Amino acid sequence: MPFDPGIVDKNILPGSGVVDYKLQRLHFLKSIESGEIDRSEACEIHPELLRVARSVAPPSGRTCPLCADGKLRIVAYVFGPRLGGGGKCVVSDEELQRLAKRSGDFVSYEVEVCPTCCWNHLIRRYPLD
Ligand SMILES: [Zn+2]
Repeated sequence: MPFDPGIVDKNILPGSGVVDYKLQRLHFLKSIESGEIDRSEACEIHPELLRVARSVAPPSGRTCPLCADGKLRIVAYVFGPRLGGGGKCVVSDEELQRLAKRSGDFVSYEVEVCPTCCWNHLIRRYPLD
């Protein structure tokens, strides 16, 4: 499933461990390949996520699994106290460290994004501490 900050409301469990979404990603890619899921659906993207990916997000060093052109970027969405319902896009380790030092539970959702075709998928989530 493409990443949507709205899913976090239903999914937030502060203090729980790292959740890896590698298997869901593989399954999702297979469903696209088989035609079960439409490619345009797979490339729906939140406008803020795309803006951050295109402007400031660091490269992941990996190539997009859907289009050969795109160089994947990594964007972290952090959710927690005083960050608002939509969370906060974070692209640097320094900023993550600063948020981790604040009081309260913060959870980071790491998303890979292709700035070319808009493929985006959750990679993992983990508590900041
Ligand atoms: Zn792509």
